[in-house]
Amino acid sequence: MFSKVLIANRGEIALRVLRACKELGIQTVAIHSTADAEAMHVKLADESVCIGPPSARDSYLNIPQILAACEITGADAVHPGYGFLSENARFAQILEEHKISFIGPSAEHIRIMGDKIAAKQTAKRLGIPVVPGSEGGVDSAEDAKRVAAEMGYPVLIKAASGGGGKGMQVVHSEDKMELAFTTARSEAAANFGDSTVYVEKYLEKPRHIEVQVMGDGKGHAIHLGERDCSLQRRHQKVWEEAQSPALNSEQQNRIGDICAKAMQGLGYSGAGTIEFLYENGEFYFIEMNTRLQVEHPVTESITRIDLVNEQLKVACGAGLDIRQEDIKFQGHAIECRINAENPETFVPSPGKITYYHPPGGLGVRVDSGVYQGYSIPPYYDSLIGKLIVTGRNRVECMMRLRRALDEFVVDGIQTTLPLFRDLVDNADIANGAYDIHWLEKYLASK
Ligand code: ADP
Repeated sequence: MFSKVLIANRGEIALRVLRACKELGIQTVAIHSTADAEAMHVKLADESVCIGPPSARDSYLNIPQILAACEITGADAVHPGYGFLSENARFAQILEEHKISFIGPSAEHIRIMGDKIAAKQTAKRLGIPVVPGSEGGVDSAEDAKRVAAEMGYPVLIKAASGGGGKGMQVVHSEDKMELAFTTARSEAAANFGDSTVYVEKYLEKPRHIEVQVMGDGKGHAIHLGERDCSLQRRHQKVWEEAQSPALNSEQQNRIGDICAKAMQGLGYSGAGTIEFLYENGEFYFIEMNTRLQVEHPVTESITRIDLVNEQLKVACGAGLDIRQEDIKFQGHAIECRINAENPETFVPSPGKITYYHPPGGLGVRVDSGVYQGYSIPPYYDSLIGKLIVTGRNRVECMMRLRRALDEFVVDGIQTTLPLFRDLVDNADIANGAYDIHWLEKYLASK
C-alpha cells in the first residue's frame, strides 16, 4: 500500500479521500490555496502545503506547484478527487514520469474519454449503445443540417471537449441551424479551447442514468449498479439516487453487464462512470467520466463498498478482489447536493457559517468540509456538503430524508436546503416520475 497520499483537491471530497486513507493507515498531505488555510481537510491531514493564491488556476490547477509539494513531502501517490486535475491526462502522465502514482485510470484512457467524439466511438466499439448522431465532428452548418435531416429534428450540438453542461445548443428546425452552429462553435472555443462540435439526436424526455464501474487494469472489471441523476438544473445534477426508480432488476443487470464487459475489453483501471440517457426502455451512452463522482456515496450506501478504498487498492497494484457475484444491491439511497446559494435564484452565497448543526441517526450520512465559524470562500464552486440518506426501500428513504432535512441547520449563509424540503414533499418525486427536464419546469412554475 502507499505510505503517503497527497490529496490534490479541496472541500468535502478532500475530506472524503482523507478518511479512506486514514482507515488504511496511509499518511495524508493536504494542499491548499491561501483562501483555504482554515479548511477542515487541512486541519485533519498529517501535513499540509500551501500551493498558491486563491485562484484555482494558480493553486489547485497548478501542476508544477503540486509536483513540488509531492517532492517536499515525499508523497508516493496523488488522489485528484473530482473536478480540477482529475481528468487531466497530462497531469496523470507527468506524475507517472516522476514515479508518483496517479490514483485513477491510465493517461491514455483519460485522454480518450475526455474527447467526447473519441469516447463515443470507443463506447460503440466496446458494445455500448450510443445516442444516434454524427460519425465524428461536424465542420460546417451544412454538414450539421445533413446529419440532422437524416436523424430528424430536434438535434443537439455539443462540444467535443465539453463539460459541466456548458455549450450545448438544441436545434428544433433547419432554419435555426446556422445560428446555433456558429454559437456552439464559438462557445466551445471560448470555454474549452477547442471549437470541435458534433451533432446528436436530442432526446426529449429521457432520464439520466449512469453506471458505476471499477476495473483492475488487467482485464477484471465489475459494475456497481446505476444511479439516477435525472433531477438537474442547467444540466447539473441536484439530487441523485440508487437504485433508479425507473428500472427493474433485469434492465439494471443488462446495462450493468454491458458496462462491465466494455471495461474488461478496455482494460480499464480504477473507478469510472458510464453515463446514459434512458428513454422508452433504451439506453444511450453520452459520456464516460474517468474519476470518482460527486454522487458516489449513493452507490456506496446500497453496495456497502468503499469506492475510495477500492481506488487506493487498485492504484497501488493490490488489485480488485471483488467479484461481480459479491455485489448485492440492498435498499435505497438518495443524495442532496447542498449548495451555498439562494434556493430560488441560485446566486452564490459565500460567507461565514454562524451556526451549523448537521443531521444524524440511522441511515444518515453528511459528507461536508464545513463547520461552525468556517467562512466559505467565494472563489470555488458552491457545493458545501452532501446529505446522503439510506433506507430499506425508497419509501423509508424518503421519510428519513424529510426528517434529516428538518434537522439540518446552517445559519449565516443561504443554502439550497429549502429546495430539498419542497422536493421531498412533491408527489412526482414521491412517485419517482421525473425526467431530466422536470426540475427546470418545476422551478419555473414556482
Ligand atoms: P457534460 O459533460 O457537459 O456534463 P453530458 O454529455 O454529460 O455533458 O450531458 C449533460 C446533460 O445534458 C445530460 O445529463 C442531459 O441532461 C443533457 N443531454 C446531453 N446529451 C443530450 C441529448 N442527446 N439529448 C437530450 N439531453 C442531453
